[in-house]
Amino acid sequence: MSNAAKNQGPTVAPAINFIRNIVDADLASGKYAARQWSGQPGPAAQQLTGSTDPAKIRTRFPPEPNGYLHFGHAKSICLNFGLARDYGGHCHLRFDDTNPEKEEQEYVDSIIDSVKWLGFSWEGDGETNLYYASNYFDWMVQFAEYLLASGHAYVDSQSADEMRTARGTLTEAGKNSPFRERSIADNLDLFKRMQAGEFADGAHIVRAKIDMAAPNINLRDPAIYRIRHATHHNTGDRWCVYPMYTFAHPIEDALENVTHSICTLEFADQRPFYDWLLERLAEGGLLQRPLPQQIEFSRLNLTYVVLSKRKLIQLVEEKHVAGWDDPRLPTLVGARRRGYTPEGFRLFAERVGVSKSDSLIEYTLLEDAMREVMNESAERRVAVLDPLKLIIDNYPAGQSEECVVHNHPFKPEMGTRIMPFSGELWIEREDFMEEPSKGYRRLFPGNMARLRHGYVVKCLGCDKDASGRVIAVHCDYLPETKSGTPGSDSIKVKGNLHWVSVAHGYEAEVRLYDRLFSCPAPGSRREGDAEGVERDFLEDINPNSVAVIRAWLEPALREAKAEERFQFERHGYFVADRIDSKEGSPVFNRTVTLKDSWGNKA
Ligand code: ATP
Ligand code: MG
Repeated sequence: MSNAAKNQGPTVAPAINFIRNIVDADLASGKYAARQWSGQPGPAAQQLTGSTDPAKIRTRFPPEPNGYLHFGHAKSICLNFGLARDYGGHCHLRFDDTNPEKEEQEYVDSIIDSVKWLGFSWEGDGETNLYYASNYFDWMVQFAEYLLASGHAYVDSQSADEMRTARGTLTEAGKNSPFRERSIADNLDLFKRMQAGEFADGAHIVRAKIDMAAPNINLRDPAIYRIRHATHHNTGDRWCVYPMYTFAHPIEDALENVTHSICTLEFADQRPFYDWLLERLAEGGLLQRPLPQQIEFSRLNLTYVVLSKRKLIQLVEEKHVAGWDDPRLPTLVGARRRGYTPEGFRLFAERVGVSKSDSLIEYTLLEDAMREVMNESAERRVAVLDPLKLIIDNYPAGQSEECVVHNHPFKPEMGTRIMPFSGELWIEREDFMEEPSKGYRRLFPGNMARLRHGYVVKCLGCDKDASGRVIAVHCDYLPETKSGTPGSDSIKVKGNLHWVSVAHGYEAEVRLYDRLFSCPAPGSRREGDAEGVERDFLEDINPNSVAVIRAWLEPALREAKAEERFQFERHGYFVADRIDSKEGSPVFNRTVTLKDSWGNKA
C-alpha cells in the first residue's frame, strides 16, 4: 500500500462503474497516449513544444467560486480525484471564474481548504494543477476571433427578447438572425470594438453559427461572448467582454489537456456543442487532438437536506443557521465542524457510486459511513448529558480511587486512561426510576446494577425537592466487585450504567445537533396539498435541530484538542468544536447518534 493510501483510513475497493469502463477502454486503446504537455495549460502550439503527457488521464474539479462546497461537490471531488489517483493521472482544481459577478476570494479560499480537507491534492509528480479559468481569457478571445474569421461565428445585434423569440421551440425551428450574414470583416471589427468598451451591456453578442433549425436548441447559434462592464475578482477591469459558460468550459478542458470531463446530467444536451466547438478549434490548429470528452453522471440528491447553492445562501443570509459552517448545513465547512470525517465522505462516495439515472440517496447512508469510520477510529469517553447525582452512602467520605479504562473496546493498541471514582457521581437521569417500568434493569430501590469500570451498587432510594422532582439517588457499593479485580463478577447484575465523578468531572457545553429539515424532501408537497401547491422549503425546517446543554464529562476530556473525535458511550460520536473550544476547555458537538433514530428505528 502506498503512503497516500495508508493515510486515507478505511478504503474500499473501487466500484466498477460506467466511467471506469470508459477510462479502461481509452487506456487499452491508447486513445490519449500521444498527447503532449508543456507543463502548463495552453493551446496546441504551446502543448506541442512539450513532451508526452506523463499523466495517463486528466480530470478536473471545476467549481465556480460563488459559494461554499456542499455534499454534492464532495461526490464530484471524490470521483474526479479518485479516478486520477487510481489511473496514474492528475486531477486539476480549476476555478471556473469566468462570470465577473458573484465570485469572491473568500469562496476560493474555502474551496481550497475543503478539497485538501477531503484528503485530495492537485500537486504531485512535480506538477501543481491549480488553475483559474479567468487566466485563459486571452486565448478565449483569440478563439472567438478565429471562429468569426473562419465563418463559424457572427456578431448578433438583436435584443435579448428578439433572440429569445427567434430561437423557436422544441417543436418549431428557430429563425435566422438578420445579422447572421454579416461580413467577416464587420464581425471582426465589431468584436474588437466590443472589447474596447464602445458598447453597452447587451448591445451585441457573439454567437456560434451552427443551425437555427437544429432539433437540439443548444445548437441554435448559441451565444459565446457577451459584453459585461464589470470588475472581475482576478482580472479586474481588463475585460468588458466575458465568455458564456458553454463556450468557456470546453476550452478550459482542452487547454488543460483534460481527457475525461465529468459533469452532471443536465449538461448532456450541451455535449453536441462541446464537441462542435472543440472540433472547429482543432480544425483550425488551435487545439491539440485527441480532444477531451464530456461524460455525464447523475448528481447527488440526499434526503433531509438541500444541495442547491441558492437555497444554502438563503438559509445563511436569512439567518436560519449561524453561518456557512453551521454544523447543521450540508456544506463541507459545516460537516467539518459537525465532526464528519473525510474518510466517511470517501467511503460514502464509493458506496453511492456513479450512475446515469437520477436518484435520491438516504441520508442514513452518509451517517452510516461516518459511524463506521468513527467506530474504528474514535476513542471512547464517558459523558453524562442529563445529570442526576448518585450518592454512595457507604463509600468513605473524601476518598477517591482510580479506575483503568480501555480507550477502545476492540483496539487494545489505543491504550487506557484513568477515570477517578468517588462517593458522589453523576449518572443519567434516565438511569433511575423510583417506580420501574416492566423490564427496567437500571437503578430502582432494592435493585443492583454495575457502574461500568467501577463497582456493583445497590440502590437504596432517592431524595426529592418540594416539587417531587428527584434530586439525588442513594446506594451502597459492594467493595469486592471492582471491575478488573479477581472475583469482581461473582455478583451478576443486568443493568450497566456510565458515570462521572462529581469532584473530578468537567462541566462543558455540548451541542446536540439533529437534522435541519424534518422531512425527507424539504419543500415538497404534503399529503392533502392541492394540485400545483408550491411549498417553501423553509416550512420544513426542523424546529429542534439543535439543543445546547451543559453536560458532565469525564476529566480526560478536558485535554481534547479541537477537532478531536470521540464516542461518548451510549450517546454517539462527538467532536471538540474547532472554533469555540479553548485549550483546556473544549466544547463538543454531536456528530451523529450511535443508531439511526429517523428512518430504520434500531
Ligand atoms: P449548484 O447547482 O448548487 O449551484 P453547481 O453545480 O452549479 O452547484 P459548481 O461550482 O458549478 O456548482 O460545481 C462544481 C462541480 O461540482 C461541477 O462539476 C458539478 O457538476 C459538481 N456538482 C455540483 N453539485 C453536485 C451534486 N449535487 N452532485 C454531484 N456533483 C455536483
Ligand atoms: Mg454550476
